[in-house]
Amino acid sequence: IVVAASVTKQFGPLKALNNVSLSVLPGAVQCIIGPSGSGKSTLLRCINQLEKIDAGAITVAGELIGYRRVGNELHELSDAEIARQRLKTGMVFQRFNLFNHMTVLQNIIEGPLTVLKRPRREIVAEGMALLERVGLSEKRDSYPIELSGGQQQRIAIARALAMKPQVMLFDEPTSALDPELVGEVLNVMRDLAASGMTMIVVTHELGFAREVASDVVFMDKGEIVEQGPPRQVLVSPQQPRTRDFIAAVL
Ligand code: ATP
Ligand code: MG
Repeated sequence: IVVAASVTKQFGPLKALNNVSLSVLPGAVQCIIGPSGSGKSTLLRCINQLEKIDAGAITVAGELIGYRRVGNELHELSDAEIARQRLKTGMVFQRFNLFNHMTVLQNIIEGPLTVLKRPRREIVAEGMALLERVGLSEKRDSYPIELSGGQQQRIAIARALAMKPQVMLFDEPTSALDPELVGEVLNVMRDLAASGMTMIVVTHELGFAREVASDVVFMDKGEIVEQGPPRQVLVSPQQPRTRDFIAAVL
C-alpha cells in the first residue's frame, strides 16, 4: 500500500535517505528502528509529503505522490492536490501537537468538519466512538492541558483516525512520555494493528516491534541496513551494525 522505490533525499551535501526501497502491504505493521540521524523521520516525512524527495518514487495506495505522469514526463502536483493525497496518511508525532484551545472532542472532529466538510452529527458520533476506542470517552470536554501526555497522545491517534487514513505513520509516539505512560499508548497502537490498519512505526520500543511488527527495518546513515521478520532482525540480526544498535538499546 506504500511503496518507496530508490528514494533519495538530500539536505545540502547530506544524504538523509540514500536509495531507500521499502514496500508495505495492506494491513502490515512496518517498524523502523535505527540510531539518531539515520533518516527514520525523514522517510516518514517524505511519505507524508512534508519533504520533497530528490530521486526515486513513492506511491501510497497505488497513487504516485507529488507528481503526475504525463507521457514520459513528471509534472509536480499543485498544493491542493498534495493536500488531497496527504489525507491518505495519518501521522502521529513524538510531541502530541493537539489544538490547545479546543476540547478533546473538538480536536477530533476539526479535520472531518473543516477539511472533509462532513455533517457535524455524523462526525460527533464517530468522534465519540473513537474516544471509546482509545479509552477516553469521559474526557470529551476536557482541554489538552488537563490531560496526561499518554492521554494526549491517545487523542492525537484518535484525531488522525478521524480522517479515515489508509495508512498511519507514527514517529516515535512514546519517546516523549514518562515511562509509566508508554504502555497505554502502545496498547492503543496494538489494538489498531489488530484491527487491520496499515501502520509504519518508527520506534525504540523493541518489545512492541517484536510483538506487533510484521516486518522490521533497521536504518543507519540514510540506508536500509537490514530488513526482515521481527524475530530475525531483533533476535538474530545478521549485520554487525544492527547487532550493535540492538545491544545498545536493550
Ligand atoms: P532521531 O532518532 O534522532 O529522530 P532520525 O533517524 O529520525 O533521528 P532524521 O530526522 O530523519 O533522523 O534525520 C536524518 C538526517 O537528516 C540527520 O543527519 C539530520 O540532521 C538531517 N536533517 C533532517 N532534517 C533536516 C533539515 N530540515 N535540514 C537539514 N538537515 C536535516
Ligand atoms: Mg526522528
